[in-house]
Amino acid sequence: MTQYEILKHYFGYDSFREGQERLIGAILEGRDVLGIMPTGAGKSLCYQIPALMMEGITLVISPLISLMKDQVSNLNQAGILAAYLNSSLTPGQYKKALEFARAGQYPIIYVAPERLMTEEFLRFALDPEVKISMVAVDEAHCVSQWGQDFRPSYLKIVDFIHRLPVRPVVSAFTATATAEVRDDIIDILMLRQPEVLTTGFDRSNLYFGVISPRDKYGTLVNYLERHKGESGIVYCITRKVVEEVCANLIREGFSVTRYHAGLSDEERKHNQDDFIYDNAPIMVATNAFGMGIDKSNVRFVIHYNMPKNMESYYQEAGRAGRDGEAAECILLYGGQDVVTNQFFIDHNQENDALDPITRQIVMERDRDRLRKMTFYCFTNECLRDYILRYFGEYGSNYCGNCSNCLSQFETVDVTEIACALIRC
Ligand code: ADP
Ligand code: MG
Repeated sequence: MTQYEILKHYFGYDSFREGQERLIGAILEGRDVLGIMPTGAGKSLCYQIPALMMEGITLVISPLISLMKDQVSNLNQAGILAAYLNSSLTPGQYKKALEFARAGQYPIIYVAPERLMTEEFLRFALDPEVKISMVAVDEAHCVSQWGQDFRPSYLKIVDFIHRLPVRPVVSAFTATATAEVRDDIIDILMLRQPEVLTTGFDRSNLYFGVISPRDKYGTLVNYLERHKGESGIVYCITRKVVEEVCANLIREGFSVTRYHAGLSDEERKHNQDDFIYDNAPIMVATNAFGMGIDKSNVRFVIHYNMPKNMESYYQEAGRAGRDGEAAECILLYGGQDVVTNQFFIDHNQENDALDPITRQIVMERDRDRLRKMTFYCFTNECLRDYILRYFGEYGSNYCGNCSNCLSQFETVDVTEIACALIRC
């Protein structure tokens, strides 16, 4: 089957989206690729379709068990044999899955990066009967210390590739577009003259707004009342804020649920399903919520607090309007948000393992990002333009669909900006 036939037959789509065809074509020519496309753009198909056309197995490296499960069950539903290999399998199930894989049952196998260099997995991968034709690295920014989700286990990918008798095609995908991360991905994964493709980061159906309300909670309630019946996400900076906001909204009769890392697995799953199936159309959550969630009708994403950087902001806000219909991304800024984020930077335990010099660099980088995030909240310029320039694209200085374009020449108290920035 051709790539067009596969697109239609298995996935039910009539045409490719921007960038997909070019990446698929490059992979099929045997070239390494790096696809930088915003969340929801359709990166998965870029490796899944060639995986079905190439001989042998495509290994997909993915950072989260829940992502792997979703993707594999989607593929299975489409009639494609695929499996995942991660710590959610019992040793017995794992062995069975490897046996099937060795027998050539699965064209696509999702693997957790920690598994790659284990003895059992290597025995499978190095079996002369087994041909690994592609390694697809999803969420590839996880290799970069510049990225917000650095995962040391991602560094094993390249060691693994080196062990293979024949070098497979290596394809990498991410939604993070900064130059440092892009260069890191190419260097660390040792991509060979990759086809690097960045598609438009602009999401023209999204309205961007920043409000600095005196009464955040009141502003939120007001907004939700005006948007009754719509589905949306309210992101809060800590679990505690999630609990407070969620409890208050329930008291006022809103149909909301909550999500943060302090809840049990069952409750998280349950609440996530309530949200996805619109039993509770409003989700109040920390940034633990959202990776891998593909809910198309999210009409608004409200940030109850300013996030730590633009990468996080755009990724989280970008969960609105995935169906292409108009949606709103609103950030409720308060001066305390800068202080809280600054505190997180100063007390980030993940940095403890780093040597003092690297630690200093990482902290300085995080402060710089926080500063740029804070500027977003204070700029008088087009917010979309600010976002696109941050990600290295050119915008226009008037989008007509953000709070600055729609209310130009609002005055800002410059001393307040200065204070906020001195603190960070
Ligand atoms: P990403 O990984 O880039 O965030 P996904 O691969 O999860 O995005 O795709 C997002 C959604 O877009 C999925 O529901 C997917 O089925 C859909 N999609 C991908 N490609 C196409 C296409 N060519 N036409 C229509 N829908 C598509
Ligand atoms: Mg994806």
